[in-house]
Amino acid sequence: MDRPDKPSNFIRQIIDADLAAGRVDHVATRFPPEPNGYLHIGHAKSIVLNFGIARDYGGTCNLRFDDTNPAKEEEHFVKAIEEDVRWLGYAWDGLYFASDYFEQLYGFAVELIEKGLAYVDDLTPEQMREYRGTLTEPGRNSPYRDRSVAENLDLFRRMRAGEFPDGSRTLRAKIDMASPNLNLRDPVLYRIRRGLIHHQTGDAWCLYPMYDFTHPISDALEGITHSLCTLEFEDHRPLYDWVLEHVSVPCHPRQIEFARLNLQYTVMSKRKLTQLVDEGLVAGWDDPRMPTLAGLRRRGYTPSSIRRFIERLGVSKADNLVEYEQLEGVIRDELDKTAARRMAVLRPLRLTLTNYPEDGEEWLTVANHPKDEGMGTRQVPFCREVYIDRNDFMEVAPNKKFKRLVLGGEVRLRYGYVVRCDEVVKDDDGNIIELIGSYDPDTLGRNPEGRKVKGVIHWVSARHGVPAELRLYDRLFRHPTPDADKSVADWKEHLNPDSLQIVSGVVEPALAEADPEQRFQFEREGYFRRDPGQAEGLVFNRIVGLRDSWAKIAGQGK
Ligand code: ATP
Ligand code: MG
Repeated sequence: MDRPDKPSNFIRQIIDADLAAGRVDHVATRFPPEPNGYLHIGHAKSIVLNFGIARDYGGTCNLRFDDTNPAKEEEHFVKAIEEDVRWLGYAWDGLYFASDYFEQLYGFAVELIEKGLAYVDDLTPEQMREYRGTLTEPGRNSPYRDRSVAENLDLFRRMRAGEFPDGSRTLRAKIDMASPNLNLRDPVLYRIRRGLIHHQTGDAWCLYPMYDFTHPISDALEGITHSLCTLEFEDHRPLYDWVLEHVSVPCHPRQIEFARLNLQYTVMSKRKLTQLVDEGLVAGWDDPRMPTLAGLRRRGYTPSSIRRFIERLGVSKADNLVEYEQLEGVIRDELDKTAARRMAVLRPLRLTLTNYPEDGEEWLTVANHPKDEGMGTRQVPFCREVYIDRNDFMEVAPNKKFKRLVLGGEVRLRYGYVVRCDEVVKDDDGNIIELIGSYDPDTLGRNPEGRKVKGVIHWVSARHGVPAELRLYDRLFRHPTPDADKSVADWKEHLNPDSLQIVSGVVEPALAEADPEQRFQFEREGYFRRDPGQAEGLVFNRIVGLRDSWAKIAGQGK
């Protein structure tokens, strides 16, 4: 994989120190998604970090589904997550489910009860909140805190057997209701969820362990040495360590927290992404405007561009909001080097060259890439009728900067001849529907005699071109931080109504059989790939424009 040098960051420094001090003799990490949605670009940070560290240290990285909440988790999310991790270019060593450990976890809970470190509580969720205290006030002990071990064991067994309704009882750790860290005020370890079908364990359980109990033990059972998670778990680390100190697990992994990746002009919480999908505001989890890996993939982003984007950002403990341009810049730089050039006209306007033989045609040999001969050539047909883009024609030049075609003026057709527009055909409403012109036969690959033609525009033979649907994607939101802005009642008000524009264009015939795996630069328009979906005919997705059009808009103060 492309990695000229190993990145250095505070996590790697901790690992180096652990290895040097002999605290560990190998490195084992894991990526632990909850299968309640698709992975997004934020998850890619965790994936690149965990799998990258395992690879660089000759260690292992597991994929573990953190599946302790059957109400929200589904089998198809499991499959989608596996596909996304593989697509990003990583192979896991072990594939596990936290639910694989349900029986063992239950045993560890019994161990805590027997040690007098856990108890069954009958407080309702509301009462529990009252008893919990606040950041400035200590909590109060539950009246059920001092139940005997025997009674706790009996009740816990009956909770498992399904004798009690949801919410009526929990198992809690007995730590310290006065702790300044709220996570240590007798956290809930187990809750009752009856009548749910878990995608892995079916109806075997109606008692489900909480994340803070499940995660450290799963890590330890898998022999994870370094458990990397995002900063919001920093305050949970004392609980992570408490659990591992009090149950008989084979090792004690080290939890290290890092800052989440936040990206402008999008939302990243799975709950909100789910809302966009469920409310039909996007076409699905793989809608090319979504920040999901499936969406970015469908849009045309490559795995290498995403890995490079993440690696470039680095890892730290400082919260950050990454500019969208950074993501676009990485794919643009990559595609500039790797994408074959093609011509496509997005807004076709017919130009008939009256002095060109009526049934004549020429096949021009054109390089696929201006700087990479190895990418070969293709044949581009030219004939009497060509399409040019409506934006490349005006009857009268609006200013001196307009170097394209005007009535009575000349322009070069890229790779072809210099042409002139002699006449404009309009409909009854005055709309331009067609151009009549001529070409200069002495200008193929040569400058015309005695005059300068500065403008060069792209074109497609009208007789050979293939109709195509072009999907021009833009940012999903108009606001850089849609869900942090308090001036609107609903973050969805910031959705960009112009995030998808569909145009009917014409593409050169070499694109008729385009492979969705291939990316192209449509000259002067941007980078595109054929949509891998089932749509009939040719459909291309715009991956990214040729340059950053938003910077310009921002500069104009819009
Ligand atoms: P969400 O809050 O959107 O539901 P999550 O953090 O609950 O996301 P998980 O499936 O639990 O999602 O995440 C799996 C792993 O990916 C966790 O270790 C989590 O810390 C990490 N992760 C999730 N989002 C980001 C992000 N934006 N940046 C970096 N890592 C992330
Ligand atoms: Mg989570």
